[in-house]
Amino acid sequence: MRLRNIKGSREVIGASEYVIHEPEEQAGAWKEIFGNENPIRIEIGMGKGRFLMELARRNRQINYIGIEKYSSVLLRAVEKQREEELPNLLFIRMEAEHIGEVFGKEEIDRIYLNFSDPWPKDRHAKRRLTSREFLARYVLILKKEGVVEFKTDNRALFDFSMEEVKEAGWKLLASTYDLHRDETMREGNVMTEYEEKFSAMGNPIHKYIICQGD
Ligand code: SAH
Repeated sequence: MRLRNIKGSREVIGASEYVIHEPEEQAGAWKEIFGNENPIRIEIGMGKGRFLMELARRNRQINYIGIEKYSSVLLRAVEKQREEELPNLLFIRMEAEHIGEVFGKEEIDRIYLNFSDPWPKDRHAKRRLTSREFLARYVLILKKEGVVEFKTDNRALFDFSMEEVKEAGWKLLASTYDLHRDETMREGNVMTEYEEKFSAMGNPIHKYIICQGD
């Protein structure tokens, strides 16, 4: 998602108490920032943050961190959070490949990936957030029993991602090629911005839930 480079977005983000600016310094100490022992769940590639804000509203006993690389997009989430001031929601502006430096071992309870960039060229496969390279980074920060939940309408990306689960030795806990028609998996589903847009166009939404192998 690219928006025009909104003037001043870096300044607004820089001044926000909801954006953690030197996240590497907090590795292993995120509980202290939130001031409680509640589980911490992250969305990588959060976009404008609608999904995570809804989760944070519904589940006050869970802490959420949204990660987004573009300040012009993150700005939207920060603006909404300025109005709502949800105490269990923080943001980081960063490139996800450094995720292993930002969180400690087993610090994260769950990772959400929603409508991640497909990087369609083979030579860019490593950049896909569901690639074996990224799964290896998630192992560094995710609790043993923690899960990764991934949604997309992109069939090629989903097929690739299912293969990577096997290749990386992770376990598939659940999957569907049509989330909105899956009686079990659609229960409690929170739509993301992209999900709303693409399902309105008639695209089925694919989803998997995976956890680390033994
Ligand atoms: N999750 C949102 C947005 C999907 S678009 C939704 O479902 O509506 C994908 C978003 O991920 C974009 O905002 C893009 O900037 C961000 N993104 C993609 N690759 C990233 C990476 N490596 N690190 C951080 N953010 C990334």
